[in-house]
Amino acid sequence: DTVFRTEGLTKVYDTGGAKVHALAGVDLELYAGELSVLLGPSGSGKSTLLNILGGLDHATGGRVWFRDLELTRLGDRALTRYRRNHVGFIFQFYNLVPSLSARENVQLVTDVAPNPMDAAEALERVGLKHRLDHFPAEMSGGEQQRVAIARAIAKRPEVLLCDEPTGALDSKTGVQVLEVLREINDEFGTSTVVITHNAGIRAMAHRVVRFADGRIASVEVNDTRVAPH
Ligand code: ADP
Ligand code: ADP
Repeated sequence: DTVFRTEGLTKVYDTGGAKVHALAGVDLELYAGELSVLLGPSGSGKSTLLNILGGLDHATGGRVWFRDLELTRLGDRALTRYRRNHVGFIFQFYNLVPSLSARENVQLVTDVAPNPMDAAEALERVGLKHRLDHFPAEMSGGEQQRVAIARAIAKRPEVLLCDEPTGALDSKTGVQVLEVLREINDEFGTSTVVITHNAGIRAMAHRVVRFADGRIASVEVNDTRVAPH
């Protein structure tokens, strides 16, 4: 099944004078249950695409679907509902609330989601059973990102969109965080899209989409995806 499909997707930023063609006609299909990675140089349009897929931003042309739902036809309220009901986000900087413990950060989501995991269960799932009552400042970067992953998966989203989740981590810690994403993808079948420069992702991804200048340069399917250990 297709989870996302785009057709001639464009995004033009008009910053008063110079127009930036961040996406210059993207036709892409991503499949349910897969872990897809977006690669390409800085400025090639990866974040712009991820934000449009996640309903955080509007395209300026073309069409995009989440399953049968055409996102490019939704108004802001419907787009917000789509985001809340279906999408988990993970960003480079963990966006945790510093005054709340790991458990309380996750509870911000589990208190309002329709069918959430227990906060402690979500944290246990990312290997942080021993950090439930720790505050962000008491945790390493990798641990903070795992709290952010727990928060994202706690509402059981169908898709996880990850924009440079390892960007602030050393490469070894980054691989550990990617392993957690891979395990979640394996266990729950969560369709996952990751932007990362960490080379460790290559063996974990089902599909590698390479961007250049707002277009797709290549799509590579990984037949040798390593099984979880
Ligand atoms: P990547 O994620 O591959 O680094 P981006 O999607 O962030 O690329 O950016 C694509 C292009 O769009 C770049 O030229 C970038 O400078 C431009 N861009 C991104 N966001 C904005 C914005 N809010 N306003 C103007 N230009 C932007
Ligand atoms: P909510 O009101 O439940 O936070 P939103 O639809 O406003 O839902 O946002 C969905 C998720 O995306 C939330 O976890 C929110 O923190 C995150 N989010 C939205 N916009 C941004 C952004 N620009 N930067 C970082 N996180 C964001």
